[in-house]
Order: sequence, then C-alpha cells, then structure tokens
Amino acid sequence: MKITMIGAGYVGLVSGVCFADFGHDVVCVDKDEGKISALRKGQIPIFEPGLDHLVASNVASGRLNFTDDLKTAVAASDVVFIAVGTPSRRGDGHADLSYVYAAAREIAANLRGFTVVVTKSTVPVGTGDEVERIIRETNPEADVAVVSNPEFLREGAAIEDFKRPDRIVIGVDGSDGRAREVMTEVYRPLYLNQSPLVFTTRRTSELIKYAGNAFLAMKITFINEIADLCEKVGANVQDVARGIGLDGRIGSKFLHAGPGYGGSCFPKDTLALVKTAQDHDSPVRLVEATVAVNDNRKRAMGRKVIAAAGGEVRGSKIAVLGLTFKPNTDDMRDSPAIAVVQALQDAGAQVIGYDPEGMENARKLIEGMVCASDPYEAAAGADALVIITEWNEFRALDFDRLRSAMKTPLLVDLRNIYRKDEVAKHGFRYASVGRPD
Ligand code: NAD
Repeated sequence: MKITMIGAGYVGLVSGVCFADFGHDVVCVDKDEGKISALRKGQIPIFEPGLDHLVASNVASGRLNFTDDLKTAVAASDVVFIAVGTPSRRGDGHADLSYVYAAAREIAANLRGFTVVVTKSTVPVGTGDEVERIIRETNPEADVAVVSNPEFLREGAAIEDFKRPDRIVIGVDGSDGRAREVMTEVYRPLYLNQSPLVFTTRRTSELIKYAGNAFLAMKITFINEIADLCEKVGANVQDVARGIGLDGRIGSKFLHAGPGYGGSCFPKDTLALVKTAQDHDSPVRLVEATVAVNDNRKRAMGRKVIAAAGGEVRGSKIAVLGLTFKPNTDDMRDSPAIAVVQALQDAGAQVIGYDPEGMENARKLIEGMVCASDPYEAAAGADALVIITEWNEFRALDFDRLRSAMKTPLLVDLRNIYRKDEVAKHGFRYASVGRPD
C-alpha cells in the first residue's frame, strides 16, 4: 500500500514508521519544515525509545520518506492518514479541529483515483462527517472513502503498542466494501499476529476513543481519591489497589495513586467528551467529576509538599525530580509537574528541577525554575526533594550522597516508588501518597 501520513508528531511519526516496517511505502508530511529537514538528516524531533533505529532502518530500505510536499504525496497514495494535533480550543475546552479541517481541504484538492482518507487524530463524534463534507465540497469528483481509525498508543511505549495493540478500531460508513478491504490490507501484518480488528461505524469508532480515555482517566482519579481517604483512615492505597485489582472485573492497571493524570491526551480528551455530551444534552457527570477532581489534585500535591516541609516554604529550596507527564517521553504537555512547581513557587520556594529527557520542553513551560543536570545537583542545599515522575533513574537514588548534599533530608515521593523504612535508614523523613507514613 502507498500511505501518506499527514502530521509527523508523536502519533504520525510512530504510525508512519511502523507501517513502513510492515512493508508499506510511507511518506510522512508535516508543515513544520524544521521537523522535516531534521528527519531527512536522520534527527528525530521527539524522544521515544527505539524510534531512532526504526526510522533509520526504514529510511535505508527506501520505504520511509519525509516531505513538506503534501500535494505529490497525496496524489500517489492509496491511503492518507490525518494525524495532526487536536488540542483543547482556547476558552471552551472543545477539541480544536482547525488542523484536521485544514488538512482535509489540502488533501481533497490533490486526490487521484480511489483513496481512503483516515482520521487517526482523536476527534469528536461527527468529525468524520465534516471531513467527508469538506472533501466532497472541495473536490466533487473525488473517489474517496472517509474512515475513522483512532490511535491508542502510549508515549514511552509507542512502538510496542503500535505493533502489538490490544485491538484496532476502524469506523467505516456506507455500503462500499472497498474502504474495509483497504484497511484490512493496511493492518494485515497485525491481523495475522492475532490483534483483533474491530469494524464499526465511523461515529461509534470516534466515540470509542473518548470513552476509552475517559474510563482510564476515571480509574486513575478513583484510586487517587481512595489514596486521600487512606491517608485519613490509616490504610495503604497500594494494598487497596492490589486487593481490588486482582478482581478480573477491575484489573490492576491504572490503579497507581499519584499526582493526577496529565499529558497530551487525557486532560484534553476528557474535557472534549464533557463538551460533546453537554452539546447533545446527555451530560457525562462521572467524567465531569473526574476532570474537576484531577484539576484540583495537581496543585493539592504542591500543598502536600508544603505540609511535609512543615507548612512554610518561603525562601526554601525545593528540588523536583521528573517533570514530564510520565517516564520515557520528553512530552511536557499538561504535566502535573507544571502545577506542582507553580504551587511551590507561589508559596515562595525556589524550585530546582531535573528530568532525564524533558528539560528542554520544561524550560519553555515552567518559568523561574532553575534547571539542574542530575538529581544530585538539583538536591544541593535543598530543603526537600520531590519525586513527581517515576523515571527508572530515580528508582535507585544514592541516599547517602543526597543526604550530604541536602540542607534538610526530606523526600516527598508522589509516585510511591520507595518505602518509608528504606529511606528512613539513611536519615530521611518521608512522605508519599495514600500510605501510612
Ligand atoms: P503532535 O503535536 O506531536 O503532532 C502533530 C503534527 O501535525 C505537528 O508536527 C504539526 O506540525 C503537524 N501538522 C498540523 N497541521 C498539519 C497540516 N495541515 N499538514 C501537515 N502537518 C500538520 O500531536 P500528537 O501527539 O502526535 O497527536 C496527534 C493526534 O493523535 C491528536 O489528535 C492526539 O489526541 C492523538 N493521539 C495522541 C497520542 C499521544 O500519545 N500523543 C495517542 C493517541 C492519540
């Protein structure tokens, strides 16, 4: 299959390179010329484990190319994926679909022969209808099918997720069987690997993505509230999570208490679902509560640090480890660290931050934070050390070294990666989330 991928971001680049690895001919298009020229030089604009090698081998095989020339790429393609961003619209929280519609217009004008246009971006119910309307209005002669195929990969494990998905959801409308055939061919290698292909209607497919993300966000928020209750009643949230997670109906994943969910998907997707549901007079109140509880939690984690430090941090130095919204990515979008650091700065603390991959993006989003080049430099002279993101490199810290560097040996572990007795024997006071300290 000849595939064009519009948007070479986290999703477009990973999907494009994996399709090339399956044996398809893939052209990744982005309007960001800097990104395309970097990719052409073999430089990967994002941090995602394994991506650099996979890009290099598929470029070498001739199956993967990068261009800013959408016109030529689309004209030669059997399938065109739209993988552009759908951020929250400023002001109201609806998904901003301007990039998707702009891409649809550009694609429409350049279609040649039967082409399947696939929306891979996360888009609200009905967006596929509008994409189809735009294409037919721009190019009434086009022989086209518009399909929904939401992406479920997780940053940090994106290649593995793309190549071994739990399922592939494909929404196709109309009686024309050609689109279904093409999509089956695109995903044949995964289908042969026994990943289920779930065919449904376009609107259902669009809603599956939001329902899935909202459910996971709700699960995280649920265990976070249980963690707060554990602190009040002297119970241990990790044991609660294990005790309920072993029930097959509940499952153990997404039951780790922490500083609240962040990232480029859950915050904006839960909000967009709330807005869609309100527009259709069918409010999703559990999701509304999830959004509100999670929003409040991030700053509350700043207050937790302040409480652990004795209630006053004005003039204190606080070292923060882990700034990205999760480990193994450089993505800082909506990371809980932003609100935690802000809350500490608002209370008068000086914050020194360190993250293995996120420093460059963090600098752009967090004003006034001093940047360190490793955990020990961050901890020098600090009154408290806070773990916000559970990078592997923070799982085996040298506590004796930290203790001699710090002014006050206090660890606030917002990811519960240590145990109190482990750090106490090095002279540290310790606070965590939802565990009897
Ligand atoms: P991103 O911001 O990393 O990448 C989007 C890219 O699209 C950018 O490089 C941008 O320059 C490019 N672009 C925008 N308009 C364009 C146009 N008209 N022509 C060519 N290029 C254009 O975004 P992302 O994180 O890859 O997310 C893309 C979509 O996938 C979103 O809808 C997101 O919700 C969804 N999604 C993301 C993830 C994730 O983990 N990041 C997972 C599943 C789904």
